Amino acid sequence: MTALKPLLRDIVPSAWPERMVALGAPRYRGRQLAHWLYDRSATDWGAMHTLPRDLRERLADSHDPAGLEPTIRRVADDGTRKFLFRLRDGQTVESVIIPMENHATFCISSQVGCAMACRFCATARGGLVRGLTPGEIVEQVQHLARDLVDDPFPQHGDRGFNVVFMGMGEPLDNFDAVRTALEIFTAPEGLGLSSRRIQISTSGPPHGLPRLAELDLPVGLTISLGGADDADRRKVMPVSGKAGVAEVLDAAAEHARRHNRRVTIAWVLIRGRTDHIEQATTLAAVTRDRPFKVNLIPLNELDDDDLLASEGASVLAFQRVLTDAGVPAFIRVSGGRDIGAACGQLRRQMARPGSS
Ligand code: SAH
Repeated sequence: MTALKPLLRDIVPSAWPERMVALGAPRYRGRQLAHWLYDRSATDWGAMHTLPRDLRERLADSHDPAGLEPTIRRVADDGTRKFLFRLRDGQTVESVIIPMENHATFCISSQVGCAMACRFCATARGGLVRGLTPGEIVEQVQHLARDLVDDPFPQHGDRGFNVVFMGMGEPLDNFDAVRTALEIFTAPEGLGLSSRRIQISTSGPPHGLPRLAELDLPVGLTISLGGADDADRRKVMPVSGKAGVAEVLDAAAEHARRHNRRVTIAWVLIRGRTDHIEQATTLAAVTRDRPFKVNLIPLNELDDDDLLASEGASVLAFQRVLTDAGVPAFIRVSGGRDIGAACGQLRRQMARPGSS
């Protein structure tokens, strides 16, 4: 297969003026292009009519204007909207719009598949196919933003959206693309989004968190933990578990301190595996008196596995151990179950002929 051209949104907006000069055009054409890409969300050459035709043709020799084609949009009973996008190489990724109390949250993917092999995760099943490019990450947000403009949640007014990297893939395993996407999200000549409205959710693979720290960006951070000591964590998170629990939590605490933002620790509750009281006690011991809160997420059961969600009483007992130790702990239930909105499930359903 011939290599795909870069997308226009694979490149940070501040680089365009220089590139325009290299193409023999004046610098201001770069600002014009960025305007079309990020203020006007243009996805085809024809829309960008303030750029001379011959310049558009030269750009088209080396770039594609869009890399995502929406193929499925489903709306769940609770208002959650799930999207499946086809990429230029035929791969697919999922994104979700979740109506929160005061705003919409966009849940986006960073990779096709994932290499982390977490036991409980649907995306992990087929392994990693490839990382998304920055443009493929940015276009997800722009598609969802357009959907929200066309079909707003009336109760939200115009309070905008937050972005969380909780879709398919491990963002810190596709670091360079995620870094560029973050730059495009936050640049004033990009999407102009406050980094306070962006959340990176990570299983904390080895070397991932130190690289994030180097960016010194005050994005929100969620750590998917799954085990509060090293041996326990590796049972459910074999790859990310190679980074020690202490190392991951120290990096998370440093992020919280530096950016004055509490870090969320996400803990999936699997019956008989991650819901023992002793595990809650260990989790309390490693999180207490630190700038963390814990989100407890009863497993969203997968259809190809015998892992079960923890029962209500165990969830409450687990939470109680944490709150008694002074650790803020909240129970989170996944939205959009009826449309396969959780964690890589829609893509898998689509990949299996005969399934609904
Ligand atoms: N790789 C990143 C982002 C994707 S997973 C990460 O690990 O954070 C996003 C969240 O979904 C994580 O908190 C993960 O623990 C949770 N998750 C994954 N599969 C799940 C399942 N089957 N049920 C409930 N939560 C799940």
